Amino acid sequence: MDVTRHLEATPDASTSTAAIEIQQLTRIYRRGQQQVRALDGIDLTIATGQFIAIKGRSGSGKTTLLNCISGLDQPTSGVVRVFGDAIGTWSEGRRTTWRREQVGFIFQSLGLLPVLSAYENVELVLRLNGVSARERHTATLEALELVGLTKWNDHRPYELSGGQQQRVAIARALAGRPRLLIADEPTGNLDSKTAHSVLALFRTIVRERNVTMLMATHDTLADDYVDRVIDLSDGRIVG
Ligand code: ADP
Ligand code: MG
Repeated sequence: MDVTRHLEATPDASTSTAAIEIQQLTRIYRRGQQQVRALDGIDLTIATGQFIAIKGRSGSGKTTLLNCISGLDQPTSGVVRVFGDAIGTWSEGRRTTWRREQVGFIFQSLGLLPVLSAYENVELVLRLNGVSARERHTATLEALELVGLTKWNDHRPYELSGGQQQRVAIARALAGRPRLLIADEPTGNLDSKTAHSVLALFRTIVRERNVTMLMATHDTLADDYVDRVIDLSDGRIVG
């Protein structure tokens, strides 16, 4: 057992190892004359190396919370600190650069390009991020190996099962070696057997790589794989 990793994953009194610190996060959307309080005074601390499920019915604020943590969206008020950086106050440009370096995204709709092989789908993101050819090659092979797809490198998405396609999307999210993995309903389109194997893979990734992972999900299967479940209701944490 890797003792260092274990200690790191345990929050200390000063929470100096916290990956995410959120205070009084509120996000209000305007819809014509109306205001929607998507998030309503969220306080939350997440330690480095934790695998967290965010649950709650549709419209409870899961996606908005993930977007504020990953820098895709900005709080209306409150503080969002990720790895010590108060990203909520940053410009769009600065957040975009930060996201490319720090965050890997996995969505329900995978966004794989059908004309590209598994290898090319993973490599493309690194290419767009300006990674050198040699590094791209190494990182792509490593990510595909981590998700168990080495044998399928040359296959295009339509030649792969739903679970395998999800693994390509996971490899793509991992290839840039992010510190934070954000998954929004990643098992939403998968049958329960495939969902189990994808959740087990997430668990392995969080343990073996030093990443913190947040996953929005309806899936009760997720409870057995995560370190902690956060329940949202009407933009508040209720459990
Ligand atoms: P979940 O992911 O749990 O389904 P969301 O975070 O998507 O919840 O939405 C929370 C609330 O905010 C909902 O009432 C939703 O309609 C509203 N909302 C989300 N995004 C927007 C937006 N861009 N404009 C207006 N309202 C939004
Ligand atoms: Mg959502």
